[in-house]
Amino acid sequence: MGGMSEAVPDVLILGGGVIGLACAYNLLQAGRSVHLLERQEIGSGTSHGNCGTITPSHALPLAGPGAIAKALKSMLRPDAPFYVKPRADFALASWLVHFASRCNGRDWRRTAEAKGELLQLSRRLTGELVEQRSLDCEFQAQGLRYVYSTQQAFDTDRDTLPLLASLGIESNLLDGSALASAEPALLPGLAGAVHFPGDAQLRPERFTSELARLVRSLGGVIEEGVEVQGFRSSAGRIEGVDTTKGARRGREVLAALGPWSASLLTSVGLNLPIQPGKGYSMTYSPPSVAPSAPLVLREHSVCVTSWQSGFRLGSTMEFSGYDNSLNAVRLDALERGAARYLREPVGPERREQWFGWRPMTYDDLPLIGRAPKHDGLWLATGHGMMGMGMSAATGRLVADLMTGREPCIDPYPYRASRFA
Ligand SMILES: Cc1cc2nc3c(=O)[nH]c(=O)nc-3n(C[C@H](O)[C@H](O)[C@H](O)COP(=O)(O)OP(=O)(O)OC[C@H]3O[C@@H](n4cnc5c(N)ncnc54)[C@H](O)[C@@H]3O)c2cc1C
Repeated sequence: MGGMSEAVPDVLILGGGVIGLACAYNLLQAGRSVHLLERQEIGSGTSHGNCGTITPSHALPLAGPGAIAKALKSMLRPDAPFYVKPRADFALASWLVHFASRCNGRDWRRTAEAKGELLQLSRRLTGELVEQRSLDCEFQAQGLRYVYSTQQAFDTDRDTLPLLASLGIESNLLDGSALASAEPALLPGLAGAVHFPGDAQLRPERFTSELARLVRSLGGVIEEGVEVQGFRSSAGRIEGVDTTKGARRGREVLAALGPWSASLLTSVGLNLPIQPGKGYSMTYSPPSVAPSAPLVLREHSVCVTSWQSGFRLGSTMEFSGYDNSLNAVRLDALERGAARYLREPVGPERREQWFGWRPMTYDDLPLIGRAPKHDGLWLATGHGMMGMGMSAATGRLVADLMTGREPCIDPYPYRASRFA
């Protein structure tokens, strides 16, 4: 197994993040042979240091009424959780104009429905996958809490709960004292919380390595340390790629390159509106009093996940292009934010500081399906803030579409041709 000159695989998959791996697994399950190419190591991109929450609760899109005003205000605060760096970049400017045009009630609701469906299906499939395949990834289904230090933020979010409920996403309210007894890791005196019982969590690094193990055990070929440099086509049909280790072929090619999708795909005339939405995380050894379920500290937009194996603070959303600096102000903002809510905001030992680029589309929906303009090319990318939580359903849908099965979910909202 693993030879380079063997028979042409049914599907050549580009990118070994959670999305490429979930697609590989589902294609193998559907009887297809797969060969996956990863530039570095499996799961070393955006799928590495993220918060690992599986969140139907996050169905409401970022582009909502009021989002632009909020973004403009936060441009004045370099430690704000949602930040747009003023800079001359045509692609980012155009992305922001499109994003702004979607900040209205109608698009917001429609997108929420499409996101909600994908997230809920994916939540169910993730649980089934972990159980059936005994994936060792610290999966836990105890829901997630949005926590508020101020009554005002609590009230504002409460107004969105009926919309979530209409999408099938349930929640329970906890006032300050109910919260204090439900979650002893929190400081006393907070305003309250919304508990979303349908959410879950896992350790993302473990999930991707377990998926890779599963893919290999089913006969899939994974090559690491191979960088894709361009596409090979013949008579308008994509037939493979050129890489740093030579050509690789596939009967069909599936690009799952996360935030790197747009640059590689421009070479075949596709202009995908994917911008990197930069986020940070800090990982520690577990504190002695850790939260029992993941938390979102709402006023500071800090996400807290604790596993047996570690403790992570993450988040912030920064639109500053492909900027790869580790910004100390933003890393500190995570710890400072956490200190307002948690008895032990950090663990005893700091193990990792990380940033990642979320692959953000301006309509906050992924691209899943056949690529426009080319035969033989498929896309699974643009999962933004929710690639872990959408991976299982994305993999299933890709396998359905590529094998001509009845799709598990209406593929129309995620069609890759909507930006063509
Ligand atoms: C701070 C932060 C917190 C987050 N928290 C959550 C969360 O709690 N829940 C959730 O669901 N999502 C979360 N996300 C989002 C989630 O991490 C992403 O949506 C998801 O990881 C995207 O997966 P992907 O497979 O598309 O991309 P990636 O994981 O980036 O995979 C793409 C792969 O392609 C490879 N690649 C790139 N170029 C090439 C090339 N030329 N040749 C070969 N290989 C190449 C890369 O090395 C990479 O491994 C968070 C993100 C951030 C930044």
